[in-house]
Amino acid sequence: MSALLPPEGWGFETRAIHAGQEPDPTTGAVIPPISLSTTFAQSAVGTHQGYEYARSGNPTRAALETCVAALECATSGFAFASGLAAEDALLRLLTPGDHLVIPNDAYGGTFRLAARVHSPVGLSWSAADLTNIHALAAVWRDETRMVWIETPTNPTLTVVDIAAVAAFAHERAAMVVVDNTFATPYLQQPLALGADIVVHSSTKYLGGHSDVVGGFVAVNDPETADRIGFLQNAAGAVPGPFDCYLVLRGVKTLAVRMDRHCESAREIVAMLEAHPAVAHVLYPGLPGHPGHGVAARQMRDFGGMVAFLAAGGEAAALAIVGRTRLFTLAESLGAVESLIEHPGRMTHASAAGSPLEVDSALVRLSVGLETTADLVADLRAALDGVG
Ligand SMILES: *Cc1c(COP(=O)(O)O)cnc(C)c1O
Repeated sequence: MSALLPPEGWGFETRAIHAGQEPDPTTGAVIPPISLSTTFAQSAVGTHQGYEYARSGNPTRAALETCVAALECATSGFAFASGLAAEDALLRLLTPGDHLVIPNDAYGGTFRLAARVHSPVGLSWSAADLTNIHALAAVWRDETRMVWIETPTNPTLTVVDIAAVAAFAHERAAMVVVDNTFATPYLQQPLALGADIVVHSSTKYLGGHSDVVGGFVAVNDPETADRIGFLQNAAGAVPGPFDCYLVLRGVKTLAVRMDRHCESAREIVAMLEAHPAVAHVLYPGLPGHPGHGVAARQMRDFGGMVAFLAAGGEAAALAIVGRTRLFTLAESLGAVESLIEHPGRMTHASAAGSPLEVDSALVRLSVGLETTADLVADLRAALDGVG
């Protein structure tokens, strides 16, 4: 949305702190002001400084859009009121009769949006195991126009080879969307791997502090950018200026936060692997994880999300999530606080009975930024004594 792109060659952290965030030309303010005005003065009809009405564009939002687009190495970025508002805009790129493929372990809200919002108005969809190109080929139709990748997936941390799926889809003239919420642009750059569109729930790692709901879309193709920009304004699911400020503040520390999330996740995984109350650990950093090779190739590091199957089944999983003290029992992820949850009864309850239903023994962790040893001790204490 804004013209002030960073110079080529700036590193990730430099872009996070400076892209779209030049000192304010009128006051010198180093931080982009939270611009609350809903309308902007015109010196003559149609002559203005780039802003007319705040749904169409707002200086705080423009700063955020320039910054996060720069982090995804995209030419255009669009901020939305939530991750699902951003996803909804992307599904509106399709028309009735088109077919969409989503992962068979997609985020529950993505599944619900396709199945219960867009399907009743004419979109058809299939869920497939995107780690297997043959499974994708098996659900492919002449009308398939979009493949929706999530990698690593929520909550099972399955890794999908973005370049391989993009090559398959592009040969058949379909668009590829990547939900990059779990990895963030610091760990994974889907556009460089061949995806057409990146989508985020900024509510998670981009915001990073559990205090703002937001969504984001980044693209390179100018025609797709025009269509998304049109939908952002025409359907109007835009974030407020204060929310934009919070996400922009969050992304400044994204790189250092992600490094620590990854480091602590590694230590927690090592403890879980050795604990008798844990049947299986799902983490792409483990050499035995089926997606480890692809993750090592397409990601900088393996992320702060960890899942595991409790050896004692659902009853044990429910006991564990109720026994931690530092890991707060709550939905959401990606913030400074460590969180624990039971996807089957919480985030993925809406997928019950569908192909996307999750294992009832599954526990999901969002590893936060508390002292690593404290996190390990808290989890170990919760696991000790649970069968
Ligand atoms: C949370 C989440 C979403 C939805 O985002 P909201 O901001 O809650 O609307 C989409 N995808 C993934 C992977 C998520 O974790």
